[in-house]
Amino acid sequence: MRKKNSRAFDRLIETAVQAQKRSYSPYSRYPVGAAVLTASGRVFAGCNVENASYGLSMCAERSAIYHCVAGGHDAIRAVCVVGAAAKPCGACRQVMFEFSDKDTELYIVDLNPTTGRRTVVKTTVYKLLPMAFDPLASGLLPANPRNLLKRKPRRDR
Ligand code: ZN
Repeated sequence: MRKKNSRAFDRLIETAVQAQKRSYSPYSRYPVGAAVLTASGRVFAGCNVENASYGLSMCAERSAIYHCVAGGHDAIRAVCVVGAAAKPCGACRQVMFEFSDKDTELYIVDLNPTTGRRTVVKTTVYKLLPMAFDPLASGLLPANPRNLLKRKPRRDR
């Protein structure tokens, strides 16, 4: 089981590394990649996508999470973000929190584009956003959004 988990996390990180290469960031020239690992083992990629109207730009982490949700997928087990000293912004922390529980892992990969050297920091979404705006505590939702994402696995996966 440990080996299977290890492979899943390797795939998560590699997907985020590849997504960083597809970043559309001509304005900031700061490419970021992200990936989400679901409870059933699927991985969804995201990258930052900028726009000439800067406020319309989207971060890699949210791009990956929205990709996962749009894919009709299940609870998020882990998130990975890859960039040069990249850390999730406040907005992304709140969006990650929406679909996380206390065990949802976050891998922050500092990838040096020149040397290719990677430094991986492992934490949790909850640790990254203490005192988050919580849809359960606020009474806005009757059930954890993470659980609302849970679906029965399809046979064709
Ligand atoms: Zn962000």
